[in-house]
Amino acid sequence: MSSEIPHYSMVIDGELVGQGPDNVILDPFDNTSVGTCPEGTAQDVDRAVSAARAAQPGWAALPDEERAALCRAVAQAFEAHAEELATLITREQGKPLDAGGFGSRFELGGCIGWSMATSAQSLPDRTVLDEGGVRAVEKRVPKGVVASITPWNWPLLIGTWHLLPAIRTGNTVVMKPSPFTPLSTLRAAAILSEVLPKGVFNVVTGGGEVGAHLTAHPDVDKVIFTGSTATGKKVMQSAAESVTHCTLELGGNDPAIVLPGAPVEAMAAGLFFGSFINAGQTCGAIKRIYVHEADHDALAEAMANIARGTKVGHGTEADSAMGPLQNAPQRNKVKALTDAAVASGAKLLAGGEQVGQGLALSPAILGDCTQDMDIVRLEQFGPAIPLVRYGDIDEAVAMANDSEYGLCASVWGAPDQAAQVAERLVAGTVYINTHAELHPMVPFGGRKASGIGVQFGEEGLKAFTDAKVVYERTPA
Ligand code: NAD
Repeated sequence: MSSEIPHYSMVIDGELVGQGPDNVILDPFDNTSVGTCPEGTAQDVDRAVSAARAAQPGWAALPDEERAALCRAVAQAFEAHAEELATLITREQGKPLDAGGFGSRFELGGCIGWSMATSAQSLPDRTVLDEGGVRAVEKRVPKGVVASITPWNWPLLIGTWHLLPAIRTGNTVVMKPSPFTPLSTLRAAAILSEVLPKGVFNVVTGGGEVGAHLTAHPDVDKVIFTGSTATGKKVMQSAAESVTHCTLELGGNDPAIVLPGAPVEAMAAGLFFGSFINAGQTCGAIKRIYVHEADHDALAEAMANIARGTKVGHGTEADSAMGPLQNAPQRNKVKALTDAAVASGAKLLAGGEQVGQGLALSPAILGDCTQDMDIVRLEQFGPAIPLVRYGDIDEAVAMANDSEYGLCASVWGAPDQAAQVAERLVAGTVYINTHAELHPMVPFGGRKASGIGVQFGEEGLKAFTDAKVVYERTPA
């Protein structure tokens, strides 16, 4: 192993822990080494939880404005190291630096923006009853130690979505990033250890076993998990042992319905973006498109044209619009789903080809797909989008809702008609003439198997607190 490869340690109680280069993280586009990191253990989790536990009362006791200022300092630290962190994300995750404004620099912009927005949020005491000499005041108090488990698609942005509301409300955090993309989180934690008091933000590396040890830990008071539905179920089971509150942001299979007669050529770019942001490796990306049978061919061709002009390349090359799949299992899954769809009669109008020597595939547009195909039924989570024809809008709504998932959905067409169709879709977020937009003040969460609870906005912040009510009767 070359000594030039940088090493990224865990951060526990403000200290860099684990100098052993147990794991080498490879660039998914070209298989070059990005960095090394240690493999965390159950003992590391125990140490991190103890550190978080010890730090929590002091952190919660800080005046609210002081905690807000330290959260702003987190945003400033992200800003000061934005280019370094964006480049590290591009190297370990694959998304280009720019990607038309939605690459790793955008991810850092989100980290800064969400940190600033969360700093400005607060949950003041609320008088909920005041009558007949009785007053009840609801306070929101921190839960305590938060366990955070993150995935590999937007590693630092999702980490920020977990960290900031947790610490803003007086909790301390132990985070376990995905073993596929741990480096940006480890580097961010090292940077933030210069900003936050010891023990407030700890990061332990490792895979499912380390994650399971963390979510089942008896000294953890809240679990926030973003990842697949299959793992989310295990997390919920393990948290049940200690009756620990969970926020689960899980998988999705977002439908987009294009209304009959909609201007499909004009909408193709929006539908393409919504499907292929981060090479489709986005929970809230479009995963299947329902288009009226009369408009199918025009939309398929317009999207195929965009696909043919999309440069897939290494993320540090300025003209790369799309990067690789992040890991081999995901790449193989997308390839297998695409091949199976074609074998069952789907038309591959563009893409689906290997690019370079690593894990990149060109964006695939699959026309004439049917509802029973796996690429329509399952979450492909990659650069391949199926188009399905429908005859009438009832059929489109029925197919869109025919899924175990309920994360996001979108309707494309005249706004009034689209709003009526949106009412009928079962999803946490329904977009009209757009998709995959998020805002720190707008609640985001999934229905059905896409999750429990929401992030962002007041509701998202409250999820890191418990209600504590002070009930007071005025003496007669
Ligand atoms: P994953 O479920 O495989 O892994 C997520 C994390 O869980 C990783 O850190 C992993 O090490 C950890 N883990 C694995 N087994 C565990 C266990 N038993 N206990 C605790 N932790 C465990 O998911 P992934 O492949 O990293 O991410 C892709 C999935 O995430 C997709 O399904 C995607 O839709 C979903 N996702 C959802 C959202 C959302 O907001 N709803 C956002 C991003 C990604």
